[in-house]
Amino acid sequence: MIYLDNSSTTRQADEVTALMSEVAREDFGNPSSLHRLGLSAQNRVTLARKQVAKALGATPEEICFNSCGTEGDSTVISGVAESRRHRGNKIITSAVEHPAVLEACARLEHKGFEVVRIPVDGECRIDMERYEAELDERTVLVSVMTVNNETGAVMPVRRMAEAAHAKKILFHTDAVQALGKIPLAGIGADFITVSGHKIHGPKGTGALYIRKGTHLPPLLPGGGQEKNMRSGTENVPGIAGLGEACRLLERESTEKMASVRTYLLEGIREQIPDIRVNSPEDGAASVLNISFLGTRGEVLLHTLEEDEIYVSTGSACSSNKKGRSHVLSAMGLSPKEIEGAIRFSFSRYNTVEEMDVVLGRLTAAVNRFRRLGSFR
Ligand code: PLP
Repeated sequence: MIYLDNSSTTRQADEVTALMSEVAREDFGNPSSLHRLGLSAQNRVTLARKQVAKALGATPEEICFNSCGTEGDSTVISGVAESRRHRGNKIITSAVEHPAVLEACARLEHKGFEVVRIPVDGECRIDMERYEAELDERTVLVSVMTVNNETGAVMPVRRMAEAAHAKKILFHTDAVQALGKIPLAGIGADFITVSGHKIHGPKGTGALYIRKGTHLPPLLPGGGQEKNMRSGTENVPGIAGLGEACRLLERESTEKMASVRTYLLEGIREQIPDIRVNSPEDGAASVLNISFLGTRGEVLLHTLEEDEIYVSTGSACSSNKKGRSHVLSAMGLSPKEIEGAIRFSFSRYNTVEEMDVVLGRLTAAVNRFRRLGSFR
């Protein structure tokens, strides 16, 4: 099996699985209990909080554990909108955000907020001039992702956060695809959303960085866990697994991923004519999005699947729905270019040898499709 759909989700690291089962077996106490078992579970949570904080360049007090990236995005967008409503009703985001952000913003639009979606160019680069012009006294929040999940484009988050702060506007970045791929320390955001399952951690885990001194209304009122932000007994094995996944990132470099990506890209360029590379040159090492003109990405996906090669046509969430990729549309690609798009996304487990196999199968599939029109 060759797994190249790591932006959808990653294989949980064996170290994470081992630790989670140990925690579930031995540290099943409630972290709020005063006895020894409670303390032991609490220690697991404390350690994980330090590990996640380190990965984000934050302090442990600034980390709130939650259930996923979608929850982090939604908590910030609806929370800031609610708490800053008296100041203004405008939110700025980009046209290429994950649906977790776009839908949370759309919901606010129904409640009378103005949502501005900053456009991107054909390389998924955000229009900074338009962005800066939109920052005004009515704006309460900017939410722009760090790395785009479909193209790997890296957004100029630090610059954008500085510009927002100069006008006293809060800045959130969805760093779900950035954690472990580009450094997040010092990125300058007030809120950062991350998710466990994109970094070989457990599904259904995530964390939200809330800059010290920044107010966000509680998501779940109750027993007061997570500094009152999100009550409910902690998912101790999941939290420990997320911490371990962050610890494992420390011994990784993205160099191997980058060389695997470059090898595949160069091979495709040599062997397959009529392509459009949709990922920018300076994008993250984890994503390579290419349109094979005159083909259908969905058919290529299923053909590769027959050889146990797993890729994606875009984001998993958007490919469930029948609509075209909103990211590639926002980049101005034609319907034909969008139809022929495949996203290869890499992890620390991929190798150059695997890419030789992928190149052979992919070239054959594209040639066959182009010869026959369709073969399914
Ligand atoms: N944000 C981005 C950029 C993503 O790629 C994803 C997942 O695909 C999410 C948010 C949602 O994360 P989760 O699946 O943890 O809710």
